[in-house]
Amino acid sequence: MAPKKQYPKRLSPKARKEIIKRRGGDSDKSGSRRKLEIHHKDRDTKNNDPKNLTVLTEKEHDDLHARRS
Ligand SMILES: [Zn+2]
Repeated sequence: MAPKKQYPKRLSPKARKEIIKRRGGDSDKSGSRRKLEIHHKDRDTKNNDPKNLTVLTEKEHDDLHARRS
């Protein structure tokens, strides 16, 4: 399966689900539960330290990356 976005994702879908679940199943930013993704605060996708991760919706995530890059 081809990745749907250019943003690299090192987390497996299973790992991503686990992290989202552990964080309450909603966006850290808006509390939305739709299309959740994990963002790496330091932009290092290999750094999966919980302190480096934040849960965002697909839109919030896109916006965040669009602003800085
Ligand atoms: Zn990100």
